[in-house]
Amino acid sequence: MPNQAALGKSDLTVNPIGLGTNAVGGHNIYPNLNEETGRDVVRTAIEAGINFLDTAFIYGPERSEELIGEVVKEKGGRGNLVIATKGSHKIVNGTVKMDNSPAFLKDAVESSLKRLQTDYIDLFYIHFPDEDTPKAEAVGALKELKDAGKIKAIGVSNFSIQQLKEANKDGYVDVLQSEYNLFKREAEKDLLPYTAENGISFVPYFPLAAGLLGGKYTKDTTFNDGRAKNPLFQGEAFIKNLEKVDKVKEIAEAKGAETAHVVLAWYLRQDSIDALIPGAKKPEQVTQNLKTLDVQLTEEEIKIIDEIFQ
Ligand code: NAP
Repeated sequence: MPNQAALGKSDLTVNPIGLGTNAVGGHNIYPNLNEETGRDVVRTAIEAGINFLDTAFIYGPERSEELIGEVVKEKGGRGNLVIATKGSHKIVNGTVKMDNSPAFLKDAVESSLKRLQTDYIDLFYIHFPDEDTPKAEAVGALKELKDAGKIKAIGVSNFSIQQLKEANKDGYVDVLQSEYNLFKREAEKDLLPYTAENGISFVPYFPLAAGLLGGKYTKDTTFNDGRAKNPLFQGEAFIKNLEKVDKVKEIAEAKGAETAHVVLAWYLRQDSIDALIPGAKKPEQVTQNLKTLDVQLTEEEIKIIDEIFQ
């Protein structure tokens, strides 16, 4: 397959356009999700040549991993699929706490393996930092799992620059997953430079700002999920944000491309951004997002988009 990108220092290579699956069985994130549509999203991705699937224990919880396991089995096995999942949420009597202790992470990997119906996970991330565990110790546990063949690459997510430096003390971190999109550019300050300098792949989450950068919402669009409270989607700020997206839409239309794909292409030209995991609620969004790979941005377009969102 063309355009394969390596993930960090690992042996994994992926199509730079992957699939985020928090809307596949993520009943605790989006209300009224249809599981068969979720399965179709994953089937469509695999059939279209997307080989980087991003899930987590907490999407559902558990259900996103289970649905992916079912579809991968139905499709005849994992082949060249790169399955990424995450753990750190410990649910005790209905309350959720983060746990990065070696014992918890080892259990988390074993449980994810069962739900995914597989005997190894390509990329396992510590989903969120906890308060107690030294980060090098947590990553050390993942290194042991890697040496044992249970996981193939090590990821951390939602880590600050200090936590990332500590986690990567021995150079074991392959991938950092953090929030990053044209509206949320804090990562440009220290996380992106650090990952570029240290051979770590940076996988941005919310690359489409939960759909806002997709170019199809208007000031009258309403939301019944987490976006109803997301500051980007409130009042005057929402209207100003839509105006920015409209400017990207003009650039996209002049190129015969779609807004979402211009936005995704804008990220992919950056040093450590090797792959993206836009989410999809419908199968057609999955195939559409592959068109990102056909978008070539000029230096001038890159600069204009940069300035719109400064
Ligand atoms: P996102 O990728 O920013 O936005 C996805 C949404 O954009 C879709 O659900 C769809 O929403 C819309 N969309 C997708 N393709 C589009 C297109 N071509 N044109 C227009 N709109 C399009 O947000 P996300 O799915 O929440 O985040 C991506 C992935 O990151 C998740 O699935 C998850 O795997 C991961 N994630 C990780 C963390 C973490 O803590 N590590 C946190 C959040 C997410 P509508 O159909 O509603 O418009």
